[in-house]
Amino acid sequence: MKIRIFDTTLRDGEQTPGVSLSPEKKLNIAKKLDALGIDAIETGFPVISDGERSAVKMITSENLQSELCGLARTNKRDIDAAVDCGLNYIHTFIATSDIHLEYKLKMTREQALEKAIDAVEYGKSRGLQVEFSAEDATRTDREFLKKVFGEVAKAGADRIDIPDTVGYSTPQYIAEITKDAIDATKLPISVHCHNDFGLAVANAISGIQAGAECAHVTINGIGERAGNASLEELVMALNSLQFDQKWETNINKELLYETSRYVSKIIGITVQPNKAIVGENAFGHESGIHTHGVLNNPLTYEPISPEIVGRTRWLQVGKHAGIHGMNAMLKEYGIVPNEEQTKKILDKVKNIGDQGKQVTEVELLSLANEVIGENKLKRIVQLTGFSVSTGVGTMPYAFVKLNIDGKEMVATDYGVGPVDASLNAIQKITGQITDEVRLKEYRLDSISGGANALCEVTVKVEDARGNIISSKSVGEDIVTTSVQAMVDGINRIMLKSLLKEKKV
Ligand code: MN
Repeated sequence: MKIRIFDTTLRDGEQTPGVSLSPEKKLNIAKKLDALGIDAIETGFPVISDGERSAVKMITSENLQSELCGLARTNKRDIDAAVDCGLNYIHTFIATSDIHLEYKLKMTREQALEKAIDAVEYGKSRGLQVEFSAEDATRTDREFLKKVFGEVAKAGADRIDIPDTVGYSTPQYIAEITKDAIDATKLPISVHCHNDFGLAVANAISGIQAGAECAHVTINGIGERAGNASLEELVMALNSLQFDQKWETNINKELLYETSRYVSKIIGITVQPNKAIVGENAFGHESGIHTHGVLNNPLTYEPISPEIVGRTRWLQVGKHAGIHGMNAMLKEYGIVPNEEQTKKILDKVKNIGDQGKQVTEVELLSLANEVIGENKLKRIVQLTGFSVSTGVGTMPYAFVKLNIDGKEMVATDYGVGPVDASLNAIQKITGQITDEVRLKEYRLDSISGGANALCEVTVKVEDARGNIISSKSVGEDIVTTSVQAMVDGINRIMLKSLLKEKKV
């Protein structure tokens, strides 16, 4: 059966603490969601501001494939605002739990029911598709919830949504009230699950198993408090796990990772490393038994192949590394060190491992590069010229000259400080020769006290496929040291793709 995916990244997701998006950014995200194959996009809450209305208008003017929906409370003003933005589909809601009725709405159950019916009738009179949500449904008196759903269905609602507004439901309970809603309405049911107890996806699946045919989700599971059900997790669980029935969605799965990264970047909320499907570590393997297993057959330690969601697996070695696993990783890139070189590389790996750090695949390649020597694997990027100016009343400005595979390239750029300006200029150059190499993290430590202290700069650089490498440089000058760390990081991350090309 086909499950409908209703994405609320642009509405509930935007209600994530600290998030606010310009209309242009909302439009760009909507285009990405459309390309991902979302069935319905909740574009926003039109009544709240001028900016929100112009964002929704921009989206409705774009001719997207996805159905477009807007949030409205159960009053004419909210519904009219949605219509004025060119929407013909609303998601209208009113709280039905006693705690919301008493402390927020200051209404009786009967008054809330009347408002719900009026709003649905008004929405229908304006020619809209109406999806009705009983806010805080899972803490609402079960009999009253059934009555509300039955009455709004009679009033003409097209869809019923069950919001688990504070993530309070268990999988069993949401299944029961999903069945209630189906019995009371015979309408298509959606479930809108929050992750306050980490159960959002499990609850959504349970609702679907009980007969719901749509789930409200967000990219990366962002949303109020602990967030909403994560689109990536729900879609891949429905696709990959064993159920009595086969579930499908219209989602283009190979775009999941790219979309996750895009939204994370625009919204400015990083994805936790251990997040399923889209987290940095979701397809990463440590040395030892796992690496060995994965090299023989990835399915030993991966439930699905990373390529399905547009990713690549990465391996890393550490102090537990064995010669066998390490050389197998190097061989993937056509690198076969002799016995002496193997020992040297392994020593370096264990050295780093003993400092409590892991060595990623790209870092291993770069260690091998150091041991085997420049002849075999040369440096791709070299810093050949660099200057920076800063002061009071002038914007920090940097000039950078890089030699890339024998070709001289220059760039200049501004920044908030001299380090920022320099790194911006470097990224300007690398942006022209490779997909995307970006600075993910920057850390500055001073090694000894005083104005002549040595400084240590650590950068984390990431490429478009999510490969990450960290690189460290020590020096007396903060700016020069930062530039060296960045150039080194870029070199090492580009080594991997270069070796892949050579092999082919
Ligand atoms: Mn919500």
